[in-house]
Amino acid sequence: MNSSVLATYNRAALAFDHGQGSWLVATDGTRYLDLTAGIAVNALGHAHPALVTALAAQGAKLWHVSNLYTIPEQEVLAQKLTDLTFADTVFFTNSGTEAAELAIKMARKYWHDAGHPQRQKILTFDGAFHGRSTGAIAAAASEKMTKGFGALMPGFESLPFGDHEALRNALSSDVAAVMIEPVQGEGGIRLLPDACLKGLRDLCDATGALLIMDEVQCGMGRTGRLFAHEWAGVTPDIMMVAKGIGGGFPLGAVLATQKASAAMVAGTHGSTYGGNPLACAIGNAVVNIISEEAFLAEVRRKAALFAQGLESLVARHSKIFETWRGQGLMLGLKCKIAPLDLVRAGQSFGLLMVPAADNVVRLLPALTITDDDISQALQRLDDTARTLSAL
Ligand SMILES: *Cc1c(COP(=O)(O)O)cnc(C)c1O
Repeated sequence: MNSSVLATYNRAALAFDHGQGSWLVATDGTRYLDLTAGIAVNALGHAHPALVTALAAQGAKLWHVSNLYTIPEQEVLAQKLTDLTFADTVFFTNSGTEAAELAIKMARKYWHDAGHPQRQKILTFDGAFHGRSTGAIAAAASEKMTKGFGALMPGFESLPFGDHEALRNALSSDVAAVMIEPVQGEGGIRLLPDACLKGLRDLCDATGALLIMDEVQCGMGRTGRLFAHEWAGVTPDIMMVAKGIGGGFPLGAVLATQKASAAMVAGTHGSTYGGNPLACAIGNAVVNIISEEAFLAEVRRKAALFAQGLESLVARHSKIFETWRGQGLMLGLKCKIAPLDLVRAGQSFGLLMVPAADNVVRLLPALTITDDDISQALQRLDDTARTLSAL
């Protein structure tokens, strides 16, 4: 197709007309079972009645006023998030990338105002993904994202993922913060073991470095807890949130403790759209549902069902799959074939999945996926793998 859209994506020749729950209907009428959920964004599936209602009600009332004024919907959502988490303050953004930018600024400003302006370095990990701004690509430091874009923002150091010794050695007195995804998404569903996250928290406490967690993909119920770090029983100082929190409407946030965020006084940061009434009305509807313990328990139950199916899928198709991994409904199939081949073959069986690094195909269904749809997904995966094995 001859497209006027900038060609930064290798798009599938697939377009959708509408969706319902875990199903998408293409413009040609074909139904697809969606294990992509807009890359972990449509946490409540497509056209969830509570979100449709929230959108319509707020849409008829007020969309946008700017942050020059108090925004009641934003106040309510911030209060909810601080009640539910370690955080004392919230800043709303439109995306995960913008959340990364603020997290970086906040950590550096913290040390600046504490009288240690030389503490600017932020430690990150290989396989990380924090967005596509010039700051976020400098943070992730993978050549794939940085090559050709000139001088990068200085002050980042990338370490091997989950290497405690390397981290200990790198935590010098010029380190402002450590930034990590408790579960890497783009990196290929790589879980940081609970003990590593605990050890990381201890090292940060011992050196004063702030701990920034990027829960843009693994947060908002994705792993079966509201936030993935809850599994390890440790908390960050600063946390980035986006993707699932808007359920498909662009919304992100930076949550922080009072201490970590105190230097961000009036005039130090801003956003025209961030946290506008429409986005926050939808965010409130999303958080109300996902934060219910019964909802999260259902995510964990369905995750166990899915995992059981993947276990036998991998065993049946050892030519195609090496293993599966993940937590909650953030699942990955490590492949022996090119991930994109599995994704493309899955499409012909009406199944939508997302490729990732490390030869992994991600399964990121709506958290509302039904037991029936999980069986369907496993059946279609089996059909896909059988076809690929026969090639
Ligand atoms: C998607 C993602 C981002 C970037 O979010 P955008 O909304 O695309 O800007 C940052 N961090 C992680 C872990 C992500 O998965």
